[in-house]
Amino acid sequence: MQGLMMDYPLTIDRILEHANRIYPRKKISTKLPDGSMHRYTYANLYGRVKRLANVLDKLGVEPGDRVGTFAWNNYQHLELYYAIPGSGAVIHTLNIRLFPEQLAYVVNHAEDKVVFIDATLLPLFEKVADEIESVQHYVLFNTDAGVETKLPNVSLYEDLMAEASDDYNWRVTDENTAMGLCYTSGTTGDPKGTLYSHRSMYLHTMGANQANVLALTERDVVLPVVPMFHAMAWGLPYSCAFAGAEMILPGPHLQPAALAEMIAEEKVTVPAGVPTIWMMLYQELQENPRDVSHIRVLTVGGAAMPRALIESYEKELDVSVLHAWGMTELSPIGTVSQLQTHHLALPEHEQWDVKERQGYPVAGVEMRIVNEAGEEVSWDGITMGEVQVRGPWIAKGYYKLDASPDHFTPDGWFRTGDVATISEDAYMHITDRTKDLVKSGGEWISSVVLENGLMAHPKVMEAAVIAIPDERWGERPMAVAVLVPEAGAVTTEELNSYLAAKFAKFWLPDKIAFVDEIPKTSVGKFDKKVLRHRYAEGQLG
Ligand code: AMP
Repeated sequence: MQGLMMDYPLTIDRILEHANRIYPRKKISTKLPDGSMHRYTYANLYGRVKRLANVLDKLGVEPGDRVGTFAWNNYQHLELYYAIPGSGAVIHTLNIRLFPEQLAYVVNHAEDKVVFIDATLLPLFEKVADEIESVQHYVLFNTDAGVETKLPNVSLYEDLMAEASDDYNWRVTDENTAMGLCYTSGTTGDPKGTLYSHRSMYLHTMGANQANVLALTERDVVLPVVPMFHAMAWGLPYSCAFAGAEMILPGPHLQPAALAEMIAEEKVTVPAGVPTIWMMLYQELQENPRDVSHIRVLTVGGAAMPRALIESYEKELDVSVLHAWGMTELSPIGTVSQLQTHHLALPEHEQWDVKERQGYPVAGVEMRIVNEAGEEVSWDGITMGEVQVRGPWIAKGYYKLDASPDHFTPDGWFRTGDVATISEDAYMHITDRTKDLVKSGGEWISSVVLENGLMAHPKVMEAAVIAIPDERWGERPMAVAVLVPEAGAVTTEELNSYLAAKFAKFWLPDKIAFVDEIPKTSVGKFDKKVLRHRYAEGQLG
C-alpha cells in the first residue's frame, strides 16, 4: 500500500554495522588459554569479521551451508558469530560437553561443511573424527603451525585471515534466511536442532535489551559465562553489540577464582551464567573476598536459582540478582523476574519470593499454562499447567523433523515441557518438567519445589528429587543430596523434619541418599535420567 514504511530486512550484519559506527572504541577482551588478556575493539571486530567472511567464501561455503564451531567463549568465536551469518551461511554451535556419539550425531545430522575448532579442545573433537561424514575442511585457532592432528584438510585460522581482504559485501537480503542452528542437550532421545533466522535473532536481540529485561547499555561490562555453544550464549554476543556494551570473554577460565578475579579487575556489571557457577562463585567469595561492587545485575538462568542463594547474594554481598527462564527453542529468553513497583512495599522475604520465580514473559513472548486436557488454566499462583509460548523468536519446528503434537499445538503454540503456576500478577513459577513430576496417590508433587526446600537447609549444597516406583502410591519422591563440605553430617530424619515445616507430609521424600556429586547434563542441569538409572541399578540404596 502506498505510503507504508520501508521494507528493511532485520539481518545480523546490521547489528555489527551499528556497533562499528556508534561504538567503534568499546572493548572486547578475551582471557586467552595462557591467562593473558587479548583486547580489541568493535572496530577491530568489524574488520576481522569481513576478512573471515572472505575466508568462508574461499573455503567454498555457500549460502545455507552449515558451519560448525567447537570453542570456548573467545574473540574468534565471536567473529564466527557474525561472519558465518553475514556470509549467508548458518552457524552451528557445537556443545563441547556432548557425549562423543551425540557430537558425531549432531555434526552429521546438520551436515556441517566446515568446522572451526579451538585447538585447546582438539583432543575432544578428534575422538569423533572417524565418525564425521560431511566436513570438508577444519580450521584451527589458538594454535600455531606446530600443531599435530589426525583431522584431514586442516588450515590455521590466522593464516587464512592474513591472506583475506577486509572488504566484503554482506550477503543476506531476506530476513527469513536461516542464520544459526543449536541442538538441545537431549536428555531424552536424540538432540533436536533449533534453526534461528536473521529476523528471529534480530528481534530477540531487541527483546533482550528492553529496559524491563537486561537493559544493557554502553556503560555495561558483560561477562558471558554461559557458553557460546549453549543457547547462543543467551543472545549476548548480539545484544552487547547492539548496546555497545563491553564484553569480557573468559575462554577456558571458568574456575570460580578466575571468574572472581575477572569480575573484580574488569569491573564487570553484568555476569551471566547458570546457578551452579554462581553457587561456586559464592563459596569462593566467602573464602577469598573480592570487589564485586560493580555488578549491576547478576544474571542467572538455565536452571532454577535456589532462593537461599539469591538471598546470600543480595543480603551478604549486596549484589542484585536477575532470575531468567528460557530455552534453546526460545532463542532463548522467555521470562525475567525483577520487582515491579507494587512489590517494593513488601517485606524483604516476600520480595525474594518474587525473585525466586522465573518471572513475567518479556514483551514479544506470549505465554499460557494448560492442563492435561489441553485447556488453559487460570493465573492464580496455585494451579499448575504446562507452559506454552508463542512469539517471533520461538521455534515452530525442529530442523529436519516433522512437527509433532508433542512439541507444537495445532493452534500454533510451542509446548515447553515445563510445568508452572502463574501468579495473578503474571509471575511464572516453574514447578517441574512434565516428565519429572512425582505422582503420589494421584497427587502431583513438584520435584523442583522440594529440591529448593532441601537446598535452603544450611548443610545442603545441592539436592535433586526423582520419582521412584511405589506399590501403594504409584510413585514416591526420593532425594539425592550433596552436603556442604565440612558442615558436618545430617540425617534423613533431620532433613525431613526441616521440610515438614513447609510441606504437606505426603511430600516428604521417602529416602534421601547422600552423594559426593549429582550427575549433570552437558549444560549443567541435574541429570535425573542418570539418577533414575542409578536407583534402578541399586546404586542409590
Ligand atoms: P536449554 O534449552 O538447554 O537451555 O534448557 C531449557 C530448560 O531449562 C527449560 O525448559 C527449563 O526446564 C530449564 N530452565 C531454564 N531456565 C530455568 C530457570 N530459571 N528455572 C528453572 N528451570 C529453567
